[in-house]
Amino acid sequence: MSVIDEILKANQAYAAQFTLGHLSMPPARRLAVVACMDARLSVEHALGLRPGDAHIIRNAGGLVTDDALRSLILSHHLLGTQEFVIIEHTDCGMVTFKDDELRVRLQRQTGASPETPAAFHAFSDLEENVRAQIRKVRSHPWISKEIPVRGFIYDDKTGLLREVTA
Ligand SMILES: [Zn+2]
Repeated sequence: MSVIDEILKANQAYAAQFTLGHLSMPPARRLAVVACMDARLSVEHALGLRPGDAHIIRNAGGLVTDDALRSLILSHHLLGTQEFVIIEHTDCGMVTFKDDELRVRLQRQTGASPETPAAFHAFSDLEENVRAQIRKVRSHPWISKEIPVRGFIYDDKTGLLREVTA
C-alpha cells in the first residue's frame, strides 16, 4: 500500500469519529503562525493549539515569502487574527545548502532552467534569519503596527521555544 493509500484509510477512520463540523472560519484564538515545514515540528502540539484556533502557514524555513505575506494579510484583514508568530528551528535543512549550488545541480539533472522558484532562500544564521522575517512582516504597509509579531526558534531536541529578540 502506498502512503497515500494509507492516509486515505486513516481519513476514513478520522471522519468516522469527526466532531469538529461546528468550527467557524475565523481562528478562535486570533493567531497566525508562520513555521517551517519540518516534519518533526508539530506546530499544534508544540503550541497547545486545537483545530479552529489559529492559521498555520508553513513552508521550507518558516519564511515570510510573498506567499506567506499574502496569507498573513488575508488572515488579519479578512479573518481577524491579531497576533503573529514566526517559528524556525534548530536543525533546519535550509542551512544545509546554497541557493546557487542547488540551482546548478537541478539544472544539470533536468536540463531545464525554469523561472520559478526565483529563489530557495537558503540561509546560514538562524537567529538573524528569524529577525529578518519579523522585519519583513512589520514593515509591510498592510499589516498594522498594532499587531504583535514575535519570532522563535524551536529546539528539535527539547521541544522548547526560545524567543529571538528583534
Ligand atoms: Zn526547517
